[in-house]
Amino acid sequence: MTTTTPLLYAELLRNLRQVNVFIDLPTPAASTTRLSLDKCGSTLSLHHESMAQKWDIILPLPSAVRAPLPAPSSPNLPPLSIPPGATAWSKSLLLLHGDTTAQQEDNDNHVPWSAPELNSLCLTVSCYHCRAEVLSRGKIKTWKDLPCHNWAEMMDYWHCHKPHEEGDTEKDKAVKRRLARDTSSGRGVGGFSTPEGVGLVDLTFFLVNRRDVGGVEVAESEKNLEANTEDFVSKSTRTVHCVACKTTLGFGEDINSNQNSDLPPITSTSAQTPPSETFRLNKWNLCILHPTPPPAPPPTSTPYKVESYPPLPFLSAQLISMISDLAIRRFRLISENEEPHPEIGLWIWIFNTDRLYTYASAEKVVGPSRGMKIYYSENGPPVGQAPGNGITMGVAEEDIVVPGDLLMEARAALRKSTEELPKAMREFRGWKAGNLERFGRDVNRISECEPHLD
Ligand SMILES: [Zn+2]
Ligand SMILES: [Zn+2]
Repeated sequence: MTTTTPLLYAELLRNLRQVNVFIDLPTPAASTTRLSLDKCGSTLSLHHESMAQKWDIILPLPSAVRAPLPAPSSPNLPPLSIPPGATAWSKSLLLLHGDTTAQQEDNDNHVPWSAPELNSLCLTVSCYHCRAEVLSRGKIKTWKDLPCHNWAEMMDYWHCHKPHEEGDTEKDKAVKRRLARDTSSGRGVGGFSTPEGVGLVDLTFFLVNRRDVGGVEVAESEKNLEANTEDFVSKSTRTVHCVACKTTLGFGEDINSNQNSDLPPITSTSAQTPPSETFRLNKWNLCILHPTPPPAPPPTSTPYKVESYPPLPFLSAQLISMISDLAIRRFRLISENEEPHPEIGLWIWIFNTDRLYTYASAEKVVGPSRGMKIYYSENGPPVGQAPGNGITMGVAEEDIVVPGDLLMEARAALRKSTEELPKAMREFRGWKAGNLERFGRDVNRISECEPHLD
């Protein structure tokens, strides 16, 4: 992509207590090119002219900075000046004393819709896309958090599988043994059976009893992802769709595929009694309808408030959880709609789980955003040296099977984020650099978060 507008990018480096600013110019800097910091040190303004165009772009900084001092080598030049002829410029600016809001790393993995949050509300859970009711009000009497810090037990929900037997560590083997035991004991999805009236809450999904769910239909699809390992029990996967708009909401799993293999697809709204089964419903495919508190709204307006969240921060939350539990930073994301193949997938290397950055061009300004700094490769594992070489981090790679639409969205978001980076930062030893949005500490209570309101 050729730059047709100046790009301004700033990133907070907490450990160094500084903000790094990068600027790409579409034409060489001239005497008319000016850069200035506002009085409180929180925005940077660029003025730049070419033969045909003039730009004035303001970049909000992720944290307030001190005005830099003139360089000792050129005391008469303003400290914030882009040398004439340059098309790229960067500078490290020291943080202003006292501004600590953005400076602490957010080590908690905040995710909306935890069990305590849901238990405090009188709510209806609906399909995000068409608002059709999935869990009507009062169906779920109790929400309980799943043990999210014991990732080994959760592995089955993300259909994690390991094609490389020879590289298995003792930990991997223990996980596999455990999964094999749980799935053969028939206690429910991955060992959890979900009683009626109870909703089990994970970072990214709900587990509910099929009998509590309305407005969905189930389609069978044979999956045999673990065919090459004897440990795993082969299973069929049932995709759960919204009846009204056909959107995939999650899946239900049948432990012994032989037992129910002749079962026709069942609509849970039909008269026949559905079997006891656990459905996994993805949070990003759902929305929560909050009744509007009194005074009563005028009859023309919707009598509830809609709360929903985009899918990618949930993917980030899952990855952050795996980083802390497995000490692995390198993953291959595989679509659950595709057959596993060693050359197909999205390879990602998570360099930093809490990056605070801002971005501005002639078209748009992105205020302080929280994301994960990621290196990725869409065309097979990169052959070059891994990024972060010399820094201690895990070199193991974990495969994660994710819903096809989520993977497509992740690819598109990463490509777009690469274009928002200054040119010098876009590639590193065969990997592309990008950013994946994540939830911040402001999304921990329903009263404090800013959901998408319709
Ligand atoms: Zn729907
Ligand atoms: Zn919330």
